[in-house]
Amino acid sequence: MARKSKPPGISRRDLIAKGGAAGVGAAALSGAGVEDAAAAQAGVPRWDRTADIVVVGSGAAGLPAAVRARDLGASVIVVEENTDVGGHAIISNAITNLGGGNAMQKKYGIQDTADDVYMEYTRPDHPMTRYNDRAVVRSFADHNVEVYDYMVSKGVMFRDGRPANAQGEGSTTPRRIAMNLYSSDFAETINGTAGSGLIRPLEKAARDGGVQILLETRMVRIVREQPTSGRVVGIVCTDLKTNKTINIRARRAVIACTGGSASNPVVRTIYDSRLTEEYQVGCEPYSRQSGDAEQQGMAIGASLGSTNAQANEMYLAQQKTAFIGCRYGYARWDPRSPYFSRAGASGIAVADYQDAILVNTVGNRFYDETVGMRLGAGSDGGWTPMYHYFAAAMASAVKVIDGRKQRVGGPIWAIFDEDAVAREEWKVEPPFVDVANGYFFSGATLAELARNLNRNAWMKHPMEPAALEATVARYNSFVDAGKDADFGKPAPKYKIQKPRFYAAWATPILHDTYAGLRVDGRWNVIDVFGKPIPGFYCAGESASGITQHGVARCMVGGYVAATDALRGRA
Ligand SMILES: Cc1cc2nc3c(=O)[nH]c(=O)nc-3n(C[C@H](O)[C@H](O)[C@H](O)COP(=O)(O)OP(=O)(O)OC[C@H]3O[C@@H](n4cnc5c(N)ncnc54)[C@H](O)[C@@H]3O)c2cc1C
Repeated sequence: MARKSKPPGISRRDLIAKGGAAGVGAAALSGAGVEDAAAAQAGVPRWDRTADIVVVGSGAAGLPAAVRARDLGASVIVVEENTDVGGHAIISNAITNLGGGNAMQKKYGIQDTADDVYMEYTRPDHPMTRYNDRAVVRSFADHNVEVYDYMVSKGVMFRDGRPANAQGEGSTTPRRIAMNLYSSDFAETINGTAGSGLIRPLEKAARDGGVQILLETRMVRIVREQPTSGRVVGIVCTDLKTNKTINIRARRAVIACTGGSASNPVVRTIYDSRLTEEYQVGCEPYSRQSGDAEQQGMAIGASLGSTNAQANEMYLAQQKTAFIGCRYGYARWDPRSPYFSRAGASGIAVADYQDAILVNTVGNRFYDETVGMRLGAGSDGGWTPMYHYFAAAMASAVKVIDGRKQRVGGPIWAIFDEDAVAREEWKVEPPFVDVANGYFFSGATLAELARNLNRNAWMKHPMEPAALEATVARYNSFVDAGKDADFGKPAPKYKIQKPRFYAAWATPILHDTYAGLRVDGRWNVIDVFGKPIPGFYCAGESASGITQHGVARCMVGGYVAATDALRGRA
């Protein structure tokens, strides 16, 4: 297997060892130091490297784009800012919504066609599908079977089993196919997750084919012939090991696959102004949804598209964090992961929210704690209570600042006592909870607990100890009364009364990006005047058009973008 999460960087050996096919390594080296008209015109002093196709990001969209482009005979450079490939995709479970009548569906007697995929992902009666871009969905639907077959041919490890359905996002035909774990080695799987069965085979196909993967290399600018007109001719990167600039020329196209914008407060607040900097993102701290394609794309005149798909807040856009007491609690970080030190702790799961109350940054309860995890999940949609839960979590706190009331967001804390720890059988110590980085606190009294949790870096609006004491006293009176007079939590069961008292980080976590750069059915980026930008494609969560969770739309987008860039009209 190719490189794993070993020390960062790209060596000359990496550059040329696998580059024999079609002289890819040579093509890259001959680009070094080349001056050309496009570079001069675009204000880039020189091109340090050159390839036909330059892909930004090595996740669920980037690797399929790179492998497909290489198969079509192009020289390919992938830049990836992380120390290993895979992005969110390698951390994911990679349960894949590809259908259209693929071989797995046929094996289990499931009827499906491209038209069925199209019709379900453009349903007018479901909030996740009604805003989808019809041209993008049409192309997605038409390429489902082709991409499934292509992935199988590249060794992607689809698990044999009857596909399940994905009702939460409007699609009803069984299409969800799981993947197998790549290996038992955490250096290869990163967090012991089946996304490795998608990413490692694609990485191998890419490297074996001669794709150059430059790790720890961040795209910081997209270069167009003129600031907002003409072709996209390359990218400017920062080598994160040396802090040096690398200018990479793209003869045919740049395909930006930077994974969405949930980690970027500037971009995410375009869609929803409440998503200020305190909110964390699922899959961090392994990789960011950097929003770099969106920001740098907009800087050269690209348009955003389908923005209401994000503002819709559906399904996995944001959710109650699954593991509390740590910052990154979307999924459980395993202490055996080589990236565990970045994560800080695994977190603890709440079996029954009768065992805790949730308070906002000023120490007030704000909603019935027992509502479910996420928007739009489950057979009934579960949409309304979660929608209101998030609204309250993000805006119920009010501070008086300079004599004027201000509505603020801020952290959400789960507050509980020693009896709750016993009932839930929690281990309130590292590596389960993150004491060192300030995401889990305790106190002999509630007042001491409030003073302690104010040390958390995101507590910009300190909690008054008296406020927390009053909140708990009121909640305890609801337990006596058997009724929550404030938020209707079903028959509150347990008082919070036995020291020690605890506060665990339980702030909503952001996850999927459902809007991004506007693309057409070829994943060619559209500018603010509605015209395709020559040589610029975007795929994966950074592209708009189809509100579908996960890797399927990413794989299809990357594959189609590469095909179109090299052959035209994919
Ligand atoms: C815990 C978890 C479980 C999931 N489970 C599933 C599941 O079961 N099924 C499913 O379909 N989906 C699942 N997903 C979602 C899925 O992983 C994502 O939808 C998918 O990976 C998005 O693909 P992408 O290519 O857009 O982004 P990514 O896969 O995240 O790849 C983007 C890459 O771009 C890199 N990058 C960003 N900015 C730059 C820059 N400026 N320069 C260079 N590189 C950059 C990032 O480091 C990253 O490697 C899950 C996600 C998580 C976190």
